[in-house]
Amino acid sequence: MWECAALKNAGVMGLAFLFAVTAFASEGSQPAGPGGAARSRGIGEMTASQGSPVGSEEVVVYSARNEQLIKPVFDAYTQATGVQIKFITDQEGPLLERLKAEGANTPADLLITVDAGNLWQAAQMGLLKPVTSEVLVANIPPHLRDPHHQWFGLSVRARTIVYNTDKVRPSELSTYEDLGNPKWKKRLCLRTSKKVYNQSLVAMMIAELGEAKTERIVRSWVDNLATDVFPDDTKMMEAIAAGQCDVGIANTYYYGRLMEKNPDQPLALFWPNQQDRGVHVNISGAGVTKHAKHERAAVKFLEWLSSEQAQNLFADDNLEYPANPKINPDTKVAAWGSFKQDLINVSKAGELQNSAVRLMDRVGYK
Ligand code: FE
Repeated sequence: MWECAALKNAGVMGLAFLFAVTAFASEGSQPAGPGGAARSRGIGEMTASQGSPVGSEEVVVYSARNEQLIKPVFDAYTQATGVQIKFITDQEGPLLERLKAEGANTPADLLITVDAGNLWQAAQMGLLKPVTSEVLVANIPPHLRDPHHQWFGLSVRARTIVYNTDKVRPSELSTYEDLGNPKWKKRLCLRTSKKVYNQSLVAMMIAELGEAKTERIVRSWVDNLATDVFPDDTKMMEAIAAGQCDVGIANTYYYGRLMEKNPDQPLALFWPNQQDRGVHVNISGAGVTKHAKHERAAVKFLEWLSSEQAQNLFADDNLEYPANPKINPDTKVAAWGSFKQDLINVSKAGELQNSAVRLMDRVGYK
C-alpha cells in the first residue's frame, strides 16, 4: 500500500539508535504494484544518534503516513516549540511488529498510522496507552477517537461513490447498498477486499445493518462486478473513466489526485446514504506508545496536531478533511461539496474487521 513508506534499512539499526530520516515512498506520485507493496522512491539521508535522556524535549514517531506528508508538520512543530521530532516511516504491519518486538525498549513515543482498523489493532496488541487530555477531547469528535482514549483521529478520509459522468446521472445513485441493484449489473468496479479500507467499510455496515443484511448487500456487489477487483483505488477509477465500468467506491483523496493530473476525466464523486446514516469515513490518527520515554512531550505534540495551527497542515497535502470540525478543509477539497458523514465510532472498523474479512470471503469478494 502506497501511503506507507518503505523502510529498507531499519532492521540493521540497533534499537538504541534513532533515525532522523529514512527511505520513503511517494504517496503523491507512485501507485502500489498489484501486490500492494510500496515502492521506495529513494533512500533519504539516514542519520543516527544516541537515544536522548528521558524527559528531554524530543518526540520519536513511528509513522505509516509517509515522509512527504508528515515532515512539513513536524518541521512546523519544531519551529514553533523547539521540540525535535525524530521519526521513521514504514508500512503499518512492520511498524506494529517492530513496536511489539522492541517492547519496553522501544524508542517510539507516538504511532501515526492510517485507518481506524490499524489503530484499533495497535491498541489490541497492547502497544498504546490511554491519554487523558481535555484538549484532544475538545478538538476531536467522539466518533473519530478511541472510546478508551488510546488513539485519536487527526484527519478524515471519506470512502464514497465515484461514477462516470458520461454514463451515469447522479439521480440514479443513492446508497452503498443500491450498488447491488441489478441495474448496475456488470457496471460496478471494486478494489480488492484485501485492502483494509474495504474491510473497514464492510465492518461498519455490519455494525449498522447487521451481518445477514450486509452479507446480502456485499454478495449483490460481487454479482454486479464488471471485471476483476483492482489492486488500488486509482486503477479502479481509471477503469471507470475508461468506460470499463460505470461506478465504484473510492477514498476521495485518490479521486482528488487523479483529477489534479487530468481534470478532463469523466469522473465525479457522489455522497451516498444522505437520507440515513451518511458517508463512510475513516481516519488517519495517532496514539502514544505504551512505553513512551517522552510521554508528556508526545501528548503535547498530539494535542498540537489536533489544533487549528496543525490541522490544515496535516490534512491538506493529502487532500483529506481535518478531523477537528472547527477547521475548514482545503478549498480544492471543499469544492467537492459538503456531506453528512456517518457518526458511528470508527473503532467498529477494528472490532468487526475479522467478521468483515470472513463475510467478504464467503461471498467470493476477492
Ligand atoms: Fe490510501
